[in-house]
Amino acid sequence: MNWLTDIARPEIRALKAYEHAVWEPGLIRLHANELPWRAQGDTSIAGLNRYPEPHPHELTAALARFYGVSPTMLLAGRGSDELIDLLIRSYCRAGQDAVIICPPTFGMYGVAARIQGASVLEVPLQRGDGYRFDPQALRARCDPSVKLVFLCSPNNPTGNRLDSQAILELARELEGRALVVVDEAYVEFADGPSLTAGVVDRPGMVVLRTLSKAHGLAGARCGALIGHADVVALLSKVIQPYAVTQLTIEAVFQSLEPAALEQARGRAATLKAERTRVAAALGHSHGVLKVWPSDANFLLVEFQDAAAALQRAHAAGLLVRDMRAAPGLSRALRISIGSPEQNDRLLSSLR
Ligand code: PMP
Repeated sequence: MNWLTDIARPEIRALKAYEHAVWEPGLIRLHANELPWRAQGDTSIAGLNRYPEPHPHELTAALARFYGVSPTMLLAGRGSDELIDLLIRSYCRAGQDAVIICPPTFGMYGVAARIQGASVLEVPLQRGDGYRFDPQALRARCDPSVKLVFLCSPNNPTGNRLDSQAILELARELEGRALVVVDEAYVEFADGPSLTAGVVDRPGMVVLRTLSKAHGLAGARCGALIGHADVVALLSKVIQPYAVTQLTIEAVFQSLEPAALEQARGRAATLKAERTRVAAALGHSHGVLKVWPSDANFLLVEFQDAAAALQRAHAAGLLVRDMRAAPGLSRALRISIGSPEQNDRLLSSLR
């Protein structure tokens, strides 16, 4: 589909990807200047003295199977952070192009855009309407400089899901002009389905998924971009070879085993039950002004005195996220849902 590459940076369209050493795992590797012996303490399956597969096809195939798409529609990277950066670097010309974000939202969209020299246009979520996004305002803001529209659902830090139908309609409307990027980092903690399946017949939509949250692999750094094969092919030229490390590849394979997936589902269910319990308890706590409903693994909570709440949590040995610098959140903290014991400790520190 031509427009998906036509709207990208011309240098990236024209770029010839780096030619890495060939990958033939059955043969002895005297072509990549590696050491023939393992480092001390290396307990990995493949050996860390060897480069990993430059573009990990088996990992891609396994993730694609898991997310229910074709492998040509998936790009694995070092967390969704890297995929956000890749999208912006591939689609936005410095000093000319722009992205749209809907604050308050995840900070990396704006940071990655500014690093690239792209403009950041803001179409705020509607606080008075449960932080709903405003498709009409967004459409009005979408001038020809806009290449990417970032929508985070469930949104960090407000916790709510955005209207899926409205997202799908927007992606359809912006076809030929801009990509709609739906960041679903927290979707496993929400009740409804992911938008991943919608990518198949909506070339203008890209969905970001991550292993960092519900799968418990934040330290491994692995995320997946799911989009049209032309978008994936374009970004594959820009991503570093060996972006996903051997240790990460092995950890992700383990996390996709049936028993690990069963455990992840059980843990997400426990977390959701704890979220309900903690929200109710905080709602009755002195000094709490509002607990926003959440579809994610955290709660956005507004306090009469957020500084004092932050301090009390810290004194109890707990870190929570200070959101007071975010637009419209001058009294808010973002609190991740922990284990039941950790949550009890949080609740008693704020009592
Ligand atoms: N998207 C959102 C909405 C997030 O909150 C985060 C992490 N806080 C990320 C992406 C980054 O996730 P990853 O670990 O996959 O880079």
